[in-house]
Amino acid sequence: MPAQSMDQLVALCKRRGFIFQTNEIYGGLQGLYDYGPLGVELKENLKKSWWTKMVYSRDDVEGLDAAILTNKKVLKYSGHEDTFTDPLVDCKDCNNRMREDHIKDSKCLHCGSSNLTEPRPFNLMFKTNIGPVSDDDSYAYLRPETAQQIFTNFKNVVDATSKTIPFGIAQIGKAFRNEITPRNFIFRVREFEQMELEFFVKKGNDEEWHKYWVEERINWWVEQGIEKDNIEVLNVPQEELSHYSKATVDLMYKFPHGVEELEGIANRTDFDLGSHSKNQDELDIDAKINKNKESNARLAVQDIETKAWEVPYVIEPSAGVDRGVLAILNESYKEETLENGKKRVVLAIKPHLAPIKAAIIPIKKNDSTIVDFSKDVKDGLQKLGLGRIVLENTGNIGKSYRKHDEIGTPVCITIDFDTLNDRTVTVRNRDTMEQQRVDVQDLKDLLKDLLLQ
Ligand code: ATP
Repeated sequence: MPAQSMDQLVALCKRRGFIFQTNEIYGGLQGLYDYGPLGVELKENLKKSWWTKMVYSRDDVEGLDAAILTNKKVLKYSGHEDTFTDPLVDCKDCNNRMREDHIKDSKCLHCGSSNLTEPRPFNLMFKTNIGPVSDDDSYAYLRPETAQQIFTNFKNVVDATSKTIPFGIAQIGKAFRNEITPRNFIFRVREFEQMELEFFVKKGNDEEWHKYWVEERINWWVEQGIEKDNIEVLNVPQEELSHYSKATVDLMYKFPHGVEELEGIANRTDFDLGSHSKNQDELDIDAKINKNKESNARLAVQDIETKAWEVPYVIEPSAGVDRGVLAILNESYKEETLENGKKRVVLAIKPHLAPIKAAIIPIKKNDSTIVDFSKDVKDGLQKLGLGRIVLENTGNIGKSYRKHDEIGTPVCITIDFDTLNDRTVTVRNRDTMEQQRVDVQDLKDLLKDLLLQ
């Protein structure tokens, strides 16, 4: 059973060092969070798992890591300057601001008043000045999605890799949105990370590829430990589609605060590549787009037989890293009552995502022979490159087990006085709490089996 409330997760994250409110010592900054020692490991492991699946396991996807600051022309032609807005309303009684689509029965979310302003569009993009002169024209945007930098690099990647459609470009990185009401911990924040794939296909094959990617993405989330029953597949109604989308499927997850979007998989048609292309009249483009007089590239591919230039369609699975972290924490948080009546909190997280892969615990913290032996075991296992291994030299085995259950460490390895004689150690399994005596030289295989399964 997942966590009962967001409060449980927030408390665990702070107590154990997964996630902190940013600039807390100055009162924080709304909608921004920092990842602590364990959070950074979990987040990196999630991103690594996505990259392995989306790039390494395929031969039809290439990676990219593009700039965050974005030329304003990109976001003009992509349609974001005109349409990347949320409807904003003010409460005339308590002066709070909120998204019109978040309120119920036309009542203020804060004081319940119906005395609200008419909704007006609020652009979510952050602007910043570039260079020493700060005039009206010298601004750029912090990208609101990583996708646009993939589209503007389309020709570079095709030229450099000789890829032909269908193929994709994957990117993980920061995106920024000036959300009107950031809330629900790391669910809706102003600075977040996205894992995005833009998969370019021939027009006409787009619907089939869209279905394919929805299935692939659900399967990947299940591999990360999310129960399939906790994911709802939502076909976004036509009237709610983004300006570029022909069809979008949202994967909705049961977060502690409600069922909300974890990932969106959109059929963006030829809208983006078409919008960023020069000489659009020479291209056969379906989507309604801006006339582009500023781009110097034709973002199209040539049909091998007819030699005609075609603008590919694109299917985009776009997942939030932060929402992924929240879903995984929620899914793996468990409170159990043990036979002796005591409670234990355990983060039953998949081993490949666990922030710490194994804790090495010397039975006595001041015994230099045992501690040195433990350090050697740690170093040997660390060299496997499977993730972080820690030396837990507190001298308190029970306390160490409790801590590592709570932060999801799959195994604890205790070094005791017998170890020095027979070179065996006690390996305790997080989920079953079973302990077995294992030869030191078998630890590497044991850990590999656990983490590479
Ligand atoms: P929402 O409707 O919840 O505002 P969205 O439809 O605007 O989300 P997309 O533009 O489809 O979101 O972005 C792709 C993914 O990026 C989302 O599925 C989500 O995981 C993540 N994401 C978007 N906005 C935020 C945010 N403010 N904070 C954290 N993650 C976000």
